[in-house]
Amino acid sequence: MLVRFWGTRGSLPVAQRAGAIEDKIVGALMKASGRSFDDEDAARRFVSEELSFAEGRSYGGATTCLEIDGVADSFFVLDMGSGLREFGIDAFRRIAGGHARTYNFFMSHLHWDHIMGFPFFGPAFDPGAKIVIHSGHADTEEALRRQQEEISFPVPFDWLRASFEFRTLTPGKAYQVDGVDVELMPQDHSHVSYAWKFRKDGRTMVFSTDAEHRLGDEADRIAFETFFDKADLVICDTMYSLAESITMKADWGHSSNVMAVNLCHGAGAKKLALFHHEPTSSDRDIQRMYEETIRYEELNRRSAAPLEIVCSYDSLELLV
Ligand SMILES: [Zn+2]
Ligand SMILES: [Zn+2]
Repeated sequence: MLVRFWGTRGSLPVAQRAGAIEDKIVGALMKASGRSFDDEDAARRFVSEELSFAEGRSYGGATTCLEIDGVADSFFVLDMGSGLREFGIDAFRRIAGGHARTYNFFMSHLHWDHIMGFPFFGPAFDPGAKIVIHSGHADTEEALRRQQEEISFPVPFDWLRASFEFRTLTPGKAYQVDGVDVELMPQDHSHVSYAWKFRKDGRTMVFSTDAEHRLGDEADRIAFETFFDKADLVICDTMYSLAESITMKADWGHSSNVMAVNLCHGAGAKKLALFHHEPTSSDRDIQRMYEETIRYEELNRRSAAPLEIVCSYDSLELLV
């Protein structure tokens, strides 16, 4: 399976301001001082090999939307954050190449940052599209209709031309969706959120965003280590540092990089993707958190096999 990250920011979409772009260009010019490049490829190599990620690129600013590709004939999409708009554009391109027009959505929860992309999802206007929305919440349709009421948006839900099906799934039960094994589990978050697990051809991927894990909560630790067990990839809410998550941001419904590493170590997971980045964090802040997480993992490793850590960014693709 190929996991494609269309939106990785938490709570609110963000964009780079003029000064942030200027800082990156100035930094790159300073590092390249005295150098010349024969062609564009040489310049690109300099950016990718000699600049850090935060110096040469950006983690992006779209809110939660991911895709699992290569597991089914239909599209598999996780959440409808602002990253969904870009996915919809790409889906049209792939449909023109013969891809099926069925979309299976899996919703972590219904908070604004996880549904705000839906009114801008072009395929919802395609009369030949079939959209199936899987959720642990029975009020998913209500949430989507409500954000397109006239007071909030000019295009009402009833104008959409695709066919819709809302499926409320039960945590703890095993489901098969288009040949993929699917499970969900409730998480500690306002109005509840759900972690999702997808299995296909012996590969396992877990999507666990917007979840608070409290230090010393043994029942929570055991439940999540069981759910993450031996997963090839776990995508985790790492919005805060541990210090923030247990002091002023306790009860805000999010977790830390430290808790994510601990749970993945306990579960024997192979790869952890840091996710749901804090909107006030700069690229440099996110890169620093990533480097600290790698060091924490090395110091606290429980077995010879390392937990590989990646820091998600908009447009990242991970082969699982
Ligand atoms: Zn969120
Ligand atoms: Zn939330």
